[in-house]
Amino acid sequence: MAAEGNVEQVLLSALAETERRFRLVSDESPVMIWICGSSGERHFVNRAWRNYLGVPDKEPDEIDWMSFVHPDDRIAYKEMMDDLLAEPRRGEVEFRVMRPCGEWGWIQERIIPRQDSNRSYGLMAAAADVTLVKQSEELLSQAKQRMETEVRRRTRHLQKMTLTDALTGIANRRHLFDQLASEIGGQRQEPSDVSLLYIDIDRFKDINDRLGHPIGDEVLIAVARALQRQIGKGGFVGRVGGEEFVVILPGASPQMAKDLAESVRTAVSRLCIASVGHPVTVSIGIASRWPEEPAEDLVRRADEALLRAKQNGRNCCVPFAGEPALA
Ligand code: GH3
Ligand code: MG
Ligand code: MG
Repeated sequence: MAAEGNVEQVLLSALAETERRFRLVSDESPVMIWICGSSGERHFVNRAWRNYLGVPDKEPDEIDWMSFVHPDDRIAYKEMMDDLLAEPRRGEVEFRVMRPCGEWGWIQERIIPRQDSNRSYGLMAAAADVTLVKQSEELLSQAKQRMETEVRRRTRHLQKMTLTDALTGIANRRHLFDQLASEIGGQRQEPSDVSLLYIDIDRFKDINDRLGHPIGDEVLIAVARALQRQIGKGGFVGRVGGEEFVVILPGASPQMAKDLAESVRTAVSRLCIASVGHPVTVSIGIASRWPEEPAEDLVRRADEALLRAKQNGRNCCVPFAGEPALA
């Protein structure tokens, strides 16, 4: 009997020593550790965890664990614990807990089942504070978002710059000719499916010479605006050179093109540009597309008609000779 008592004593003191060592090691560890039984009740929470939550002196059963977990993470966290208890396996989870300073700390926790050869009897978990990692990730993702927004903004700006005339804000030469190509590309058979107005400001050099380049620029802007107002959604206006503009009129018959040209010419001549002090006029060449005519030929004919308008004394509209007779 005495010998049995001794063996029991030795075993108990060995167990107490193991327990003491475990507590010592786990309490000195920076890793946050808890242990629970098969019901999920935590019966060991190391010092690092208690300090992290700001409850250094509480016993594990006095800590209302879920009250520390972020409300948005509670359900997922609880479901994970229930799953791991019901079906023992390793698990990993990230969740937020309330710190004593009143801020949320991010925790990454690894959970392992406590098992011996034929049964499992609860869980053990080791956790680390990953708040800084999370904050860095958040900062990085915000910076990435800001950068993407900025790249999109600059790309849009660059695209706009490549298509726009910087002075007047209307389409530039390249954009206008691209537009004409796509207009013509869509329709090959119908005659007079597209008409063009080739518009040139009269005696523009005189304005520059007498009043200076900046006033010349004002005139260009005022004329561009007048063209856009006059053409509206019925056509596409671009500045193709110094004081030259082209208007694409999809679906406009020669007569419609002539009427529009006349309304444009009148509108420009009625502009009141205070710094100029006299009416500004334009000459306009008109051409309507012949069947299967390439874009460059159509433009060349409109330009030729414009030359005739200049020869006719300016401030007038001239259709390309050889077009069907107009009223
Ligand atoms: P015409 O009636 O025969 O068309 O005579 P014009 O004086 O209008 O034509 P010309 O081709 O002799 O002169 C065009 C002038 O346009 C010359 C050039 O200095 C000026 N010009 C070209 N681009 C710009 C610009 O962006 N701003 C200003 N202010 N002037 C420009
Ligand atoms: Mg010119
Ligand atoms: Mg001119």
